[in-house]
Amino acid sequence: MLEKVVIANRGEIALRILRSCRELGIRTVAVFSEQDREQKHVLLADEAVCIGPAPSAQSYLNIPAVISAAEVTDAVAIHPGYGFLAENADFAERVEQSGFIFIGPKAETIRLMGSKIAARKAMRDAGLPCVPGSDGPLSDDAEELARTARRIGFPVIIKASGGGGGRGMRVVHSEAFLRNAVQLTRAEAKAAFGDDTVYMEKFLEHPRHVEIQILADQHGNVIYLGERDCSMQRRHQKVLEEAPAPGIDAGLRKKIGERCVEACAGIGYRGAGTMEFLYQDGEFHFIEMNTRIQVEHPVTEMVTGVDIVKEQFYIANGDPLSYRQQDIRIRGHAIECRINAEDPETFLPCPGLIEHVHHPGGPGIRVDTHVYDGYRVPPHYDSLIGKLIAHAETRDFAIARMRTALAEIVIDGIKTNIPLHQTILHDAAFVAGGTDIHYLQGKLVQR
Ligand code: ADP
Repeated sequence: MLEKVVIANRGEIALRILRSCRELGIRTVAVFSEQDREQKHVLLADEAVCIGPAPSAQSYLNIPAVISAAEVTDAVAIHPGYGFLAENADFAERVEQSGFIFIGPKAETIRLMGSKIAARKAMRDAGLPCVPGSDGPLSDDAEELARTARRIGFPVIIKASGGGGGRGMRVVHSEAFLRNAVQLTRAEAKAAFGDDTVYMEKFLEHPRHVEIQILADQHGNVIYLGERDCSMQRRHQKVLEEAPAPGIDAGLRKKIGERCVEACAGIGYRGAGTMEFLYQDGEFHFIEMNTRIQVEHPVTEMVTGVDIVKEQFYIANGDPLSYRQQDIRIRGHAIECRINAEDPETFLPCPGLIEHVHHPGGPGIRVDTHVYDGYRVPPHYDSLIGKLIAHAETRDFAIARMRTALAEIVIDGIKTNIPLHQTILHDAAFVAGGTDIHYLQGKLVQR
């Protein structure tokens, strides 16, 4: 097995990765910003290297600093987690050029999927259905834009090709606003992602977000671990996820899963990855691929029993996958609530001191979090402070278990979105299952 790995991340995912390292006997190096000395994984790691001041541009996004941490500690590999440098193709390339193993796909695959336009084309060529849209980047020519939109049919959505995190998207309902919307999205994309390439898709009015988890080793074995439903979103960002997706039967799962496997095999994919789809009227439409471990991976782990992070290490080590497709069974139902340090009314981040925290427990409950009594949530990073996962034999029991856990959890000192999760878990439409990506936003507007 890999001897020593740098964990190039922070928070709950750094701790999650550290735990798998421990189980596999891999020594760990935590890299941390000056702000993060007291992070749980930093305290638990075999070695820890400070890589810069609190702002992530000077620490967690500082490529030379992360690579030199691997050099000075004699590590052999770097796990990027999610966010930060996880989908930065230049980083992956420089890691490998410096003689380390990047725990993820090849740099060229990350680059391909980093451009949503290129990813759409590659997946269409591989036989996956995409959301109807423009063939490539949009121009600023009003007539051409109108032609494209008319062909696709209003409403349309203008999207940044290099976008992520639910940003860089704009819905347009009529021709009058089209050119303006393209220019605005272009400017935003340039500022946020350094790339002003935008494209157009049909804006689907009642889709669900359903995604397929993939694992691919370096010997040509590719498997799928079923799907997750991540339709409960606010501003295109996931709030709660579940597996399996309500109403997706075994036949449909197999059909889309096999097509994803074929597409990944076709592009020589390596590692863990997720193919994201919008699912509407019984049809899957590919939107993008994430070339990393995802926040919501635990729901898949709970229903399949596969430790996805461990498999990432096996794959990086050149070992074959521990499972064949026929070994994968979906058992029961799992739900994940993302716990954010934010005001439940305004959704503004609420950093600060956590005076007291009490984690729920009991059968089927998993808590992935790095916070503890006296932990201070810094203002510099994402507001995710933990994930609460409930697994049970049926969806109804998973809901009941999650309600119990949400009633038990205590986080004193800061505001969190736990009240929002309580509302969702008692919402009749959610309980019935199958709500679409616009549902939560609509519910929030009403209150
Ligand atoms: P990001 O990389 O920023 O997450 P995605 O392309 O994955 O962007 O889209 C994020 C979310 O935005 C989707 O889950 C969905 O809610 C919404 N969205 C994206 N494309 C469309 C579309 N064509 N129609 C309707 N909603 C969309």
